[in-house]
Amino acid sequence: MEKTKGNIGVTTENIFPVIKQFLYSDHEIFLRELVANAVDASQKMKTLASTGEFSGELGEMKVTVELDEKGKTLKITDRGIGMTAEEVDKYINQIAFSSAGEVLEKYKDQASGIIGHFGLGFYSAFMVSSKVTIESLSWKEGSKPVFWSCDGSPEFEMNECVRSERGTTVTLYLDGDSEEFASKGRIESLLHKYCKFMPIPVVFGKKTEWKDGKSVETDQDNVINSIEPIWTKAPSELKDEDYLNFYHALYPMEEDPMFYIHLNVDYPFTLTGVLYFPKIKERMAIDKNKIQLYCNQMFVTDHVDNIVPDFLTLLHGVIDSPDIPLNVSRSYLQSDANVKKISTYITKKVADRLEQIFKEQRETLEEKWDNIKLFIEYGMLSDEKFCERAVEFALLKDVDGKYYSFDEYRKAVEETQTDKDKKVVFLYATDTEKQYSAIEAAKNLGYNVLLMDCELDSHFVGLLEQKIKDVRCARVDSDSASRLIPKEDEIKPTMSEEDSKTLSELFKGALPEGPEWTVEAANLGEDGEPVLITQNEFMRRYREMSSIGGGMNFYGSMPQMYDVKVNMENPVIAKIWGDRENTSDLLHQVVDLALLSNGLLTGKALAEFIARSAELLKK
Ligand code: ADP
Repeated sequence: MEKTKGNIGVTTENIFPVIKQFLYSDHEIFLRELVANAVDASQKMKTLASTGEFSGELGEMKVTVELDEKGKTLKITDRGIGMTAEEVDKYINQIAFSSAGEVLEKYKDQASGIIGHFGLGFYSAFMVSSKVTIESLSWKEGSKPVFWSCDGSPEFEMNECVRSERGTTVTLYLDGDSEEFASKGRIESLLHKYCKFMPIPVVFGKKTEWKDGKSVETDQDNVINSIEPIWTKAPSELKDEDYLNFYHALYPMEEDPMFYIHLNVDYPFTLTGVLYFPKIKERMAIDKNKIQLYCNQMFVTDHVDNIVPDFLTLLHGVIDSPDIPLNVSRSYLQSDANVKKISTYITKKVADRLEQIFKEQRETLEEKWDNIKLFIEYGMLSDEKFCERAVEFALLKDVDGKYYSFDEYRKAVEETQTDKDKKVVFLYATDTEKQYSAIEAAKNLGYNVLLMDCELDSHFVGLLEQKIKDVRCARVDSDSASRLIPKEDEIKPTMSEEDSKTLSELFKGALPEGPEWTVEAANLGEDGEPVLITQNEFMRRYREMSSIGGGMNFYGSMPQMYDVKVNMENPVIAKIWGDRENTSDLLHQVVDLALLSNGLLTGKALAEFIARSAELLKK
């Protein structure tokens, strides 16, 4: 072969500055691209051998990465199919598209996606090199080894060389700006990041061991990857332990996961993977972006939002699919038909698995429920399809720690907790300490109280009302125990409009400023509390929702609103009402007591209450 020189076939005057400029932030992916090419070539070789097209010696199929820290060169060698001079010309010299510059401009935000997809994979080497050479010997009989070299201008040089081993060596002469890559530590960590699960062994130097107080090289290859990660195997070949070990290999710092789900589908798209429910340590401080996306065992990204539904980004694990388009913008991903199908499939698989655990391992589910509850509730609130499924296996927990499915719970309380409007009232507490007396009062009446102490529960009670037929939820302290579940219509005291107004003004005068008070006469029985302060269930829920970002800020900015019921049947109230000129102290006292039991009496008002009580005791 004669020595040839030529121009690389791109229409842009010089593609290399373009590559360097636009792909700046993603420089490190050059290594993934080159190793991926080497792995591809090796796999093609294995295929040729398995179909019988190639009948010679395969040799040890591995990809070797060698770094010369001093000389600042990096070599990637494979024993793959190699390239003939014609192939180098076709695949390397003629870049596969016509307007590289334009395309790069358009997709500059998705640098790592466009590379590879547009056949720029090999050229990413120029992001970090002042010169790149290829030496290659094709598997085809009678091939001559070829040498190719290019210094970053569109000119290349090609001639014959001496090489006896089949395969390809790509050598990078790292440029001045890329000396960071001339470091063993850096290259090893990049190989771990991008090549950890590639299907052909990737070797970087030799394994080391400690001998006589120092680290010495052994004669064993330092293999970076595990070529058969568990998601490539059939679930029937795997034990729980394998899933656990894989999890810890991926996330060495994490505690054992709660459950795992093996994904495996090949029609209408190809997707494999294993997802895990992590153990949630601090609620609401959960890491997203723990799912790693692979394409045929090549690491692509750990940002899978837009590919899996939002609530599933809380999961950990691996998804591998060649059907997720990598060359398009993130917003486009959401509307991509394949991505939609993939997202639906994953949601369905997660629901299937949870349902299976619910049916077959109820005890385990209860044991782990508190840990996955946030995740399930988030899923139910944000994903209609998941919610439809989850109503079957989601659990409710009462204040005594007993678990029920939605259906079981409705049946359990239906008899005692149905109100006059035929609604089953689910009572719930958000804080067993603060609402202790209300919980006890409700229990004394034979009611059950649910525990709803999770961040999303204020949204979640609304969902329960929508999803379970004829159910209403009420916080256990939203009214006096006997009135939480009204069995018959309440008989209100008869009072003239003017008297009602006077009563309202009288009590408002004793209530602190700030909140909005709605004062109303009520009959709560002779032994009932003189004054009862409650917060409207719905108003409180809306405020809570808006405070955790439910988008209802209108309610969040409204003042606190309370209902104040004045028990006209109570003798003390009768006394105050009958002799309002002379009972101001008593009025303040009953109002303060009511405020106190709601935790609303603080600071100066509390001090005054104590002083007044002391005075009253002397009388
Ligand atoms: P892509 O891999 O996306 O096709 P590249 O620019 O990385 O784009 O490579 C272009 C082509 O060059 C490959 O499709 C392959 O035919 C050939 N090639 C690259 N690297 C090797 C290699 N190590 N061994 C054999 N062929 C290779």
